[in-house]
Amino acid sequence: MKVSCEIIKDLLPLYHGGVCSNESKTMVEEHLAYCDSCKAELQAMDEDLPINNTEQNLNEAEAVKKLSRRWKKGMNKSLLKGILITIVIIALAALVLYSFMDFRILPKPY
Ligand SMILES: [Zn+2]
Repeated sequence: MKVSCEIIKDLLPLYHGGVCSNESKTMVEEHLAYCDSCKAELQAMDEDLPINNTEQNLNEAEAVKKLSRRWKKGMNKSLLKGILITIVIIALAALVLYSFMDFRILPKPY
C-alpha cells in the first residue's frame, strides 16, 4: 500500500514518540523503507531530541546557579549579622570582664 509523504509526515512525530498504533507504525516503517525524504525527516527528529534536552539541562543549570547565587547572598547577609552580633557580645563580655577584673585587681585602699 502506497501512502503519501504528507500522511507519513503527519504520523512521524507520533511514530517517533512511540505513541501511534501498530497499524500506523507498520505503515510508517513500510514507507520509510523506500522513501528517503521521510527517513531524513525521522532522522532530523532523532537529532532534535538531544539538542532540546541539552538546552533544557543548560536552562536548569542556569536556574540552579541563580538560586545558589541568591542563597549565597542570603548566607553572606546572615553571616554578617552573626559576626556583628558576636562582636557586640564579645565587646560586652570584655567590658564586664574588664570591670570585674578591675574591681578585683584594684588594690584595696588603706
Ligand atoms: Zn515519504
